Amino acid sequence: MNVPFFRASLGDAEISEVVAVLRSGWLTSGPLVKRFEAEFAAAVGAQHAVALNSATAALHLAVEAMGLRPGDGVLVPSMTFAATAEIVRYLGAVPLIVDSEPVTLNMSLEALDRTVSDLREGRLPASIPRDTPIVGVIPVHVGGLMMDMDAVGRAASRHGAWVVEDAAHAFPASWRAEADAPWIRCGEQTAAVSCYSFYANKTITTGEGGMAVTDNEAVAGRMRTMSLHGLSRDAWGRFTAGGTWDYRIIAPGFKYNLTDIAAAIGVHQLAAAEQMRLRRSEVAHSYLAALSEVDKIELPVDPVDRIHSWHLFPIRLRLDRLSINRAAFIEALRQEGIGTSVHWRPLHLHPYYESTFGWRPDHCPVATREWERLISLPIFPSMTDAELSHVVQTVTAIARKHRR
Ligand SMILES: *Cc1c(COP(=O)(O)O)cnc(C)c1O
Repeated sequence: MNVPFFRASLGDAEISEVVAVLRSGWLTSGPLVKRFEAEFAAAVGAQHAVALNSATAALHLAVEAMGLRPGDGVLVPSMTFAATAEIVRYLGAVPLIVDSEPVTLNMSLEALDRTVSDLREGRLPASIPRDTPIVGVIPVHVGGLMMDMDAVGRAASRHGAWVVEDAAHAFPASWRAEADAPWIRCGEQTAAVSCYSFYANKTITTGEGGMAVTDNEAVAGRMRTMSLHGLSRDAWGRFTAGGTWDYRIIAPGFKYNLTDIAAAIGVHQLAAAEQMRLRRSEVAHSYLAALSEVDKIELPVDPVDRIHSWHLFPIRLRLDRLSINRAAFIEALRQEGIGTSVHWRPLHLHPYYESTFGWRPDHCPVATREWERLISLPIFPSMTDAELSHVVQTVTAIARKHRR
């Protein structure tokens, strides 16, 4: 039996809406994008939403709108995807790489403070000037398990930094400070700007796509302008009734707008988002129950003060109890038809960050140690019971066969 790492849930609603857009004659950003933005803003509890063609674009526009400048320092987790740090480099600023918290693998706020003192005291790579101004923090909710955003906000203000949230995994997801506190959705004033991904294998998809949400009207306006060549007016505003033909270039912007074809998929994915999350949560809880006895692996946590999006289900191998390494474990799963992934090789262990800045493994000891034993198992809403039990039985059998 083959179990893919991910299979998107796209139905007749998405297909008919795309066909309707194709027949309408208006393909690029138009009424469907406007609708997707309004409905997404409402879903996360934000004032403004700007639909874009990726989360990478959303993050880029967000830090540009926050005024990021060459030579500025931005605190980013080591455990993340390329995009979180590359957008800092787009503006000539410097990613200050922060180690992980060992239980959740989210960015450690203790490590964040330590990175700042290491910078000031000359313990970061020598290529990074000690007086680098720290202007921002970009937290990532790894796998859809939210960080404590009050604590992130406090850490950021200790260092005089803004917070732009890489929420690529965190829709829908919520957190609360304690059992009786109200739930706060990711995007509900959890950061100056929250950036979501609708890439093909994310919790909701438009093929490629992203969204930036904010309560700050000026920031939203800047992102909207820069998303379309820095023009004073978008195409829908220029070519529809009541629109005017004239526009002004007010900055050298980018080409990051979402199409109506993609938004047509997005509005229906959005409507199904909570139902899909509930199904992923069922899959996750089945894994947690069925794999709890396998003492050769460690399972992800599910704290009571989080509504987890369960974008990922990362297990960690107990390499001290196994006679094979992570690569061999992944290969054994592959031979049984099971697709997996690894999230992620940490940033500070990539050649670009090593050679450009001089980051070394011991700068982030937790991420360095933990990533060697990470494997993300398949998790998606349309996963069948047969697929789930095939994964459970295979993981259990491999662990037993290769026990040390
Ligand atoms: C997928 C992902 C992104 C980038 O999303 P795109 O929409 O593909 O640009 C950014 N950050 C994280 C953590 C991701 O997983």
